[in-house]
Amino acid sequence: MADKTPPSQPAGEVDPTQETYDIIIVGAGIAGLSAAIYTTRERLSTLVLERQLPGGQILLTARVENYPGFPEPINGMELADRLTQQAKRFGARIETGAEIVRVEPAGEGAERHIVLHGKDRRFRGRAVILSVGSEYRRLGAPGEKRLMGYGVSYCATCDAPFYRDKHVMVVGGGDTAVDEGIHILDFAKRVTFVLRGQEFRAERILLDELFSHGDRVTVLANTTVEEIIGEKRVEGLVLRDVAADRKYLYECDGVFVFIGLDPNTAFLKDTLTLTEGGFIRTDACRLTTSVPGIWAAGDVRADTLKQAATAAADGVTAALNAKQYLRGKGAHMART
Ligand SMILES: Cc1cc2nc3c(=O)[nH]c(=O)nc-3n(C[C@H](O)[C@H](O)[C@H](O)COP(=O)(O)OP(=O)(O)OC[C@H]3O[C@@H](n4cnc5c(N)ncnc54)[C@H](O)[C@@H]3O)c2cc1C
Repeated sequence: MADKTPPSQPAGEVDPTQETYDIIIVGAGIAGLSAAIYTTRERLSTLVLERQLPGGQILLTARVENYPGFPEPINGMELADRLTQQAKRFGARIETGAEIVRVEPAGEGAERHIVLHGKDRRFRGRAVILSVGSEYRRLGAPGEKRLMGYGVSYCATCDAPFYRDKHVMVVGGGDTAVDEGIHILDFAKRVTFVLRGQEFRAERILLDELFSHGDRVTVLANTTVEEIIGEKRVEGLVLRDVAADRKYLYECDGVFVFIGLDPNTAFLKDTLTLTEGGFIRTDACRLTTSVPGIWAAGDVRADTLKQAATAAADGVTAALNAKQYLRGKGAHMART
């Protein structure tokens, strides 16, 4: 295993004593940790670099009901901890507080490794898996952070079943908000949409389906969320009617926020092919990116389902394909 970079090392220099890892995984969410379990079990030297703590977005939820293998709900922190322990058990080295700010693809010379630039250190890998995830845009309203996972949600597939026969608010008026709102109506007795503007921005076909639910759907246009209130769980929203410049309390059992999702790829825009929204484009089966030796996995990838189990599957797929590549069978060979 490589030693930590000595403090005397000048900023930006590669520590000459530092090992070149077989695989460097950037991001220790579910995708990255799942990849690390596989690469380490395959005896590939593996370094996982995480800017915060291991776990990623799943740390933000208290109840995960749909991750296979857990018949009872599992706390997101416990799930993250189990994955971290499993990766470490096989020898993964996980460095926290290590944010990657630039990726330098392998050159053509003798040293065909990829260099990852941290803020004051560099790391070398023969192959790289990018599993840096994405972040749901927040309202920024008081109460949102405190009640996240306790009535504040960003994912209907994850949380709608908790709202059977309840009254739920949906913030947002685009395609995603309406599509997710329709899904929530499979469970909730009533859904109230909060629109900042006058109208929805969603496709007509989605709106027709939404309004086929009749008076189970209410729309509050020209309205903003000022605060999310509730002691232990969401009990209501303080809303502002912008046209009338009036604040009022609106009771509800939960609020789903669908105002956008930002991939953590600002540092990759000059390196890889990204979608317009900034997600990493990959081959659908092998998860190869536009740069040889670099794979992408999990929520950061374009066209994924943004679920914990799909992130895990992506991590495994990227890991096994990267292994094939390192064993000299080529980047475009999948296990058959
Ligand atoms: C509140 C909430 C509840 C959810 N509930 C469920 C649920 O019940 N069931 C379900 O299946 N899914 C749920 N999800 C979705 C699920 O959490 C994600 O699909 C999954 O965690 C994605 O994993 P990931 O590894 O792809 O990315 P992430 O979890 O986003 O992990 C990415 C990691 O990369 C790190 N990182 C980012 N940039 C850098 C960088 N430059 N350098 C180093 N590290 C970096 C981040 O700090 C993060 O730790 C929920 C999501 C949220 C937000």
